Amino acid sequence: MCTHFGKLVYIVHVVEFQYRGLSYAHIVLKVLPELPFTFIDATVIARIPNDPELADVRSKVLKYNMHSKDHLKKSSNRCNKKEKCVFSFPFDLATTTSLDNNGWVIYRRDTEDDKYVVF
Ligand SMILES: [Zn+2]
Repeated sequence: MCTHFGKLVYIVHVVEFQYRGLSYAHIVLKVLPELPFTFIDATVIARIPNDPELADVRSKVLKYNMHSKDHLKKSSNRCNKKEKCVFSFPFDLATTTSLDNNGWVIYRRDTEDDKYVVF
């Protein structure tokens, strides 16, 4: 199988549903030739779009893909464990996507609001 990424070696995906019912997928794929790591910033974003042509996407991100900024105000919030978010929000700002020392992806995030974008 050929894609615009190159030759697809394998693909594995699992579709899950958020608390509010919106579906999303975890996807792992391998393509050849291997893509440069910087390619991630061109295909996956954890940012609120600012482009006027993406106004519809922007409104959907703001409605469905934002972690609450009030998540730690109540001890009863499901992500609040001892006043620390179990999902690690807010994430740090980053000028480019990279990996941390444990192999976790640190997505590019440009603004304070981007720190709360769910990916
Ligand atoms: Zn939280």
